[in-house]
Amino acid sequence: MKRKSTARAFTLSFFLLILSFLIPSPLAGNSFAATRSTVDILAVGDDLVHSSVYRAHRTKKGYDFTPIYKMVKEDIREADLAVINQETILVDKDYSNYPRFGSPKAVADAIAAVGFDIVTHATNHTLDRGVENVLGTLNYWREQYPEITVLGIHKNKKEANKITVVEKNGIRIAMLNYTYGLNGHKVPRGKEYLVDLLNDKKKVRSDIRRAKEISDFVMVFPHWGSEYVYKANSFQRSWAELFLEEGVDVVIGAHPHVVQPYRMMHRKDGHRMLVYYSLGNFVSGQSRVPRMLGGMAKLTLIKDSKGARIGSYTLVPIINHIGARKKSFTVYKLSDYTEALAAKHDIHRLSPREKFSLAEMKKLFKKITGKDA
Ligand SMILES: [Zn+2]
Repeated sequence: MKRKSTARAFTLSFFLLILSFLIPSPLAGNSFAATRSTVDILAVGDDLVHSSVYRAHRTKKGYDFTPIYKMVKEDIREADLAVINQETILVDKDYSNYPRFGSPKAVADAIAAVGFDIVTHATNHTLDRGVENVLGTLNYWREQYPEITVLGIHKNKKEANKITVVEKNGIRIAMLNYTYGLNGHKVPRGKEYLVDLLNDKKKVRSDIRRAKEISDFVMVFPHWGSEYVYKANSFQRSWAELFLEEGVDVVIGAHPHVVQPYRMMHRKDGHRMLVYYSLGNFVSGQSRVPRMLGGMAKLTLIKDSKGARIGSYTLVPIINHIGARKKSFTVYKLSDYTEALAAKHDIHRLSPREKFSLAEMKKLFKKITGKDA
């Protein structure tokens, strides 16, 4: 969602418009200012609601998860489109922890309140609490926050067959979300529409081709990879090749609970595809050091007289800060984090043998991505 930047973009467009009158345009009648539009996208990784996370956010009336986001909400608001991977399904009662997660619906209220626009729901935990709660989650989003786009889960075949296209600033972005599996849960026969799986190459190719016909950009959000591994595995690499072959523009992965590298891939004919293999955790109650480091993908999509293309892109490192005795969870940008905060992180109690400090986290980010934090 964007408030401040809309005003900024408007001022900039106005300035460019004036400029286009003053400078003779080489493209007569097709001025730069009149045709160029951009969309700033932000994406974060796994919203992994362990029991420690919901217990820490209990209030007299229920739950309030908004404090998790207080240090990054400006970034979320400033983006034209903000995406989050909701790893756990939402339930009305009997909240539960790993391995069969069920999270309070107030999680959705917080996601909406801080300004996320898109939620990816195809994860290995989608069926943890049965068919009924997949539909319950979907209904809650539809009824309470119809402006939010939910990806990866569907209530019937007709909806599952429809390609989701989000239109922003005159740019149409098709979005697909798949999970590699469902932790051994089986989708009931005849209900294959419930969740999008990354298992049928022919089907995925066909989805991408249909998506390309009706959009300017195609983004894929795969739930994939090996947990706690800093590199893409062969499953991720082979699917990324398929996405590139089909002309996908951006791939943003989730699931490994640690950050993995990101890079621009090039097809022989010059088509470019930006892939983030894994954004790591956004928030979690996990208790190992590398799982505290996540990434916030930021990228700009451009459409002008030269066509549709990816502009600038980066990965902003973030820290899941756990307060003493797991009493609070707050996500910080690493650039706002301090050694003093790092010294107070509950990780020193949870995993006393591991080293955790701001300097260590910067080192880890550099080790994984090759980029300075
Ligand atoms: Zn997962």
